[in-house]
Amino acid sequence: MSIDAGHGTLFDNPKESRERVIRAVCHHGVTVPDRGSSFFIHLSELCPVACEHCMYASDLTRKETAKDSLSRPELDAAIDFINASRSEKLNITGGGEPFLKFQSILRLLERVSVPRVEIVTAGYWGKQESRAERLLRRMDEALSRNPNPPETLLRLSIDRYHIEAPRPVEIPHYGNVARAWQTVRPAFALGFRSIQPDMDIVDTALARELAATVETVNDWNRRIVLPDGTGLPITFNVFRLSGKAAELRDDLLEGSQTIKEYYAPFESGSNRLSLATAVNDAIRGAYAASAGAAVTLNSDGTFWIFAGTAPDRRLMFTGQDFGEAMGHFFQDPITRFLVDEGMWALADIIAALDPATHAAAVAKNDVASLVEDLLAPDGVRLAMTLIAAQRTVHGGRATVEGDPQMAELLASETDLRAWCTDTVRGVRL
Ligand code: SF4
Repeated sequence: MSIDAGHGTLFDNPKESRERVIRAVCHHGVTVPDRGSSFFIHLSELCPVACEHCMYASDLTRKETAKDSLSRPELDAAIDFINASRSEKLNITGGGEPFLKFQSILRLLERVSVPRVEIVTAGYWGKQESRAERLLRRMDEALSRNPNPPETLLRLSIDRYHIEAPRPVEIPHYGNVARAWQTVRPAFALGFRSIQPDMDIVDTALARELAATVETVNDWNRRIVLPDGTGLPITFNVFRLSGKAAELRDDLLEGSQTIKEYYAPFESGSNRLSLATAVNDAIRGAYAASAGAAVTLNSDGTFWIFAGTAPDRRLMFTGQDFGEAMGHFFQDPITRFLVDEGMWALADIIAALDPATHAAAVAKNDVASLVEDLLAPDGVRLAMTLIAAQRTVHGGRATVEGDPQMAELLASETDLRAWCTDTVRGVRL
């Protein structure tokens, strides 16, 4: 294999070279999503429970990010952005405990125009049934003020780590929330989520607390059936070894599927889906194709396409127009690759480029961090950008403008995958 000598210097400054590729590639005939699928908003990076396995390593210590939550005006701008995205579902979750920003939850419930909302909480506020009742009533009132109230599900995380945390949420506390919900009978559903290794453990304990029974729905979904016949869903997700869980023993993955197995319906079959555009009820069997993009908005104000944005391409939310933001993300050939080919195609290429980075990223078993971890090294990001850009140029879906040398490289028959692999591994030809 040979390549023009001038291109060999691209990897001397991989960040700048990646920007150069992104600037030069003009995509044609490919539509950029003008709407969202799932929208994830993280209201706080803090959490009072401080679980030993927390993928966000959350507790009540502020991290080094500039801010740990959105201000009221920022939240209002974010709500406008969510509504403009016409997302199919809003997930209030992640990063920490959203109930630390309870007023923000209320604001979202009364103002969002999405059809469905899911709120994930540790339920630490259920230590007294009377308090749980008060909070559920306030959420119900907020929903009733929404002119188009979304179908809403409140889900409590329940597993051995929450139960044994420094400030634990114990089985009777979960029971308090369920009893309060039965008393209030709000216009939203109640459910639970857990981890696969705790199947048959926490569902059984919770059922005992509530004098309920457990029904199996499918492999990873069960229903806690209360004495009056009401069913509360409980979903068992994969166990992830990211964040603080990275310090736990590897054998904790026993009893859990890998993310490759769990998310296979997104990535296989004739109607291939992509995590970047179709995420995620965490309920097997509920996957659906979507023309929209899945977006995460973090409590520090950064946002990106879930499993679809390289880490250096994230944006700071300053009230952007949804379409403009999508245009920024989709200018990157890597985003196009992730949407068209999926994250496992990306992982396969990086397994050859940089086996150590690939192995460490996959070992976490965490779909939320996989793309970021795979693309963390500057050289890998550049290599992946070149490979993805060459595919789009060869496929007639892009041209290269204003950079003849780059145009020549991306139009050439050079096997960029092999060349980049040699280069990233430090073997220049
Ligand atoms: S409750 Fe959730 S956010 Fe809080 S420490 Fe535990 S896993 Fe992390």
